[in-house]
Amino acid sequence: MYPVRVVSGLKYEFLEAVRGEIDKCTKCATCQAGCPTYESSISETLVARGKIRLAKGVLDGETELTDRIANDFNQCLSCMNCQTSCPSGVATMKIFSAARAEIYEKKGAGPIAGFIFKHMLPHPGRLNILAKLTGVSALFYKYAPSWFAELLPYSQGGVKRVTPDFLQRNLRSRVAEVNAPYATPVGKPVRRVAFFSGCMTDMAFPQVGLKVIEGLRRAGVEVLFPKAQVCCGAPAYYNGDVNSTKELARKNIETFNALNVDAIVYSCATCGSIVGETYRQLFPGDPEVEKFCAKVVDYQKLLVELSIETIVGGADGTGRKLKVTYHDPCHLKRAMGVSKEPRQLLKSLPHVEFVEMEGADRCCGGSGTFGMKFYGMSMDIGKFKADAIKNSGADIVVTACPSCQLQLADSLHRNGYDIPVLHTADLVDVALSTSRDGGNNKDQPDSAISNTSAASANR
Ligand code: SF4
Ligand code: SF4
Repeated sequence: MYPVRVVSGLKYEFLEAVRGEIDKCTKCATCQAGCPTYESSISETLVARGKIRLAKGVLDGETELTDRIANDFNQCLSCMNCQTSCPSGVATMKIFSAARAEIYEKKGAGPIAGFIFKHMLPHPGRLNILAKLTGVSALFYKYAPSWFAELLPYSQGGVKRVTPDFLQRNLRSRVAEVNAPYATPVGKPVRRVAFFSGCMTDMAFPQVGLKVIEGLRRAGVEVLFPKAQVCCGAPAYYNGDVNSTKELARKNIETFNALNVDAIVYSCATCGSIVGETYRQLFPGDPEVEKFCAKVVDYQKLLVELSIETIVGGADGTGRKLKVTYHDPCHLKRAMGVSKEPRQLLKSLPHVEFVEMEGADRCCGGSGTFGMKFYGMSMDIGKFKADAIKNSGADIVVTACPSCQLQLADSLHRNGYDIPVLHTADLVDVALSTSRDGGNNKDQPDSAISNTSAASANR
């Protein structure tokens, strides 16, 4: 359970609650290997061992929680590599989230971020207006002369950053609350699920959300889209604002628990790990929260469970196959334990030839606001991934997280590789349309890419 306070009256209540984890660290340095921020900086304070030592120093009164230390804690991708590789089983993510909660409590997150967490995230309508304003700014940025763009922080070497297209009509205004299945597989009961879209899918990748719903309906599932759902709380949580995260969690849990559904489906890895795991940790032992979290399932995992290959099997698969590689979002593989199902799903699609890339589960370097605050390091980490995608020989790269999609698109663009980045739902949709067409449309896989989420990013 984290982050949680210990008895009140102590100076650092959140850190005190994880003292046991801090003391478990043997300083062996195993966590250095594979830590993207360490490998990029070779700075001991940017790896788990160093951060844990800093946390202990703060707790024991050896140092204050200075801005420098706060900055070291913030320079972390929350990729969980240190936690899964630690031979002593140190729950590094518990320690880091406790540290972020202390930083938020003592220093806040700044007036703009604080306002967004409290007054925008709980209100999808307000967030949508903010998204549109951001979309207009992104257009100015896109068409700004390069001498001007070079003055901005995101245009290193004169190359402009790939930005999301927030000017599209958002998902929640396009879908009904109840979406009936197209056909029920013979002998199988109708499955009823609710879709948790998350803000990025709602506002920047609505076509991914539409394809997720379409794919599930074609697989014989009734899909509910409760309009009362709000942001999962990830931006607030990863900036240490525990109270705002809990308020958003309560609203979502209440909304989804009121529905009589078999599963709560997500297609964004970060949102999935927040609603499926973090909510549980924020409210340990709460039966309502447990009821909610137990139903949370990844979209790809559900499609594999529903044997989607029997539905796309109508395509003969004799057209040109696309070479596809897959990037594992950290939160999907390490937090939710989903890594074999996306590969299983991709391999089952008739127009796909799956190829594995080197370091498929290595963090892409995006990690939400990390990529905005530390763009240089984010791009440095992204280069490894861009090269790995290029070296795999893939025509396209697929993932299951909007934040990873943007980071991959930006990294590939910055390194001069013209490789589209799609969501798995895009390829499932291509397979379903090819299947609907009886497998006659041999050009479908190539031409369909122009109608995918890759087209929703500004380059
Ligand atoms: S691998 Fe675990 S025990 Fe070893 S230094 Fe890192 S956090 Fe500490
Ligand atoms: S979560 Fe990732 S980036 Fe952060 S310290 Fe651990 S390995 Fe490094």
